[in-house]
Amino acid sequence: MIKAKKKFGQNFLKDESIKQKIIQAMPNDDLKVIEIGPGLGDLTKKLLEKEKNITAFEIDLELCEYLQNSLESEIKKEQLELVCQDVLKCWDDSLHKKEYNLIANLPYYVATNIILKALSDRKCKTILVMIQKEVAQKFSAKAGDKEFSALSILANLVGESKLLFDVGGECFDPPPKVTSSILKIEKKRDYICDKLFKDKKEFESFQKFLRTAFVAPRKILAKNLQSSYDKKKIKEFFEEKNLSPTLRPHQLAVEEYHLLFKIIG
Ligand code: SAM
Repeated sequence: MIKAKKKFGQNFLKDESIKQKIIQAMPNDDLKVIEIGPGLGDLTKKLLEKEKNITAFEIDLELCEYLQNSLESEIKKEQLELVCQDVLKCWDDSLHKKEYNLIANLPYYVATNIILKALSDRKCKTILVMIQKEVAQKFSAKAGDKEFSALSILANLVGESKLLFDVGGECFDPPPKVTSSILKIEKKRDYICDKLFKDKKEFESFQKFLRTAFVAPRKILAKNLQSSYDKKKIKEFFEEKNLSPTLRPHQLAVEEYHLLFKIIG
């Protein structure tokens, strides 16, 4: 029997109805599907009932060997390609040359990093992932919500981000200590191709700008920004947009963050 390894964030999803709900939330299109971390292949098998063009990345060589045996016929028929590697090491600008939808029960230790990579990957069209509830709330929050953060802005700038439902620890083996949630991000735009930013360098400056904006999340936004950006231009922007000078970072809308960055960044 294969034992779950903590270092790879392994909590295997056992609940049949949750697996079914995840599959039902997949987009209805013909795009390729990429799964990160198939684990023991439970979700992969369900996916294979619906999708015939799947690539799965698994870091754990013991699990890879197990999957190569248990999914041998699907691999032979080329319905499933199994890549036995750390997905982050295979990911340059795009994880695949074709457009794809991403599905994963993500290991918590790399979840945020993987979602940010997928948001920046123009080939990735939909992100459907199970992650820690607090992280899902950050990615799906809207301006005004107390969880609204730099992650919400990065997600909502290029797509529609929704927390679909929660999954309790009892649905996994071994059970994690935290509640998980299913997060779905349907991408509509790309940071660079759709000219939100002129190049990668400008996009990196925007990420730095967001870190500064949220450096003290409960303090005044203009004050957070003043430490690194032009005070006069910030004041003019607030006046022109009729915004309260005491606005907190979670209260400014996504499009206004983008606009403000274009002026002061
Ligand atoms: N999909 C399975 C399920 O739902 O039961 C397993 C989910 S488990 C939370 C996370 C999986 O991701 C594990 O199989 C783990 O080995 C794999 N994993 C962890 N880090 C990875 C990485 N950097 N690249 C690829 N797979 C990774």
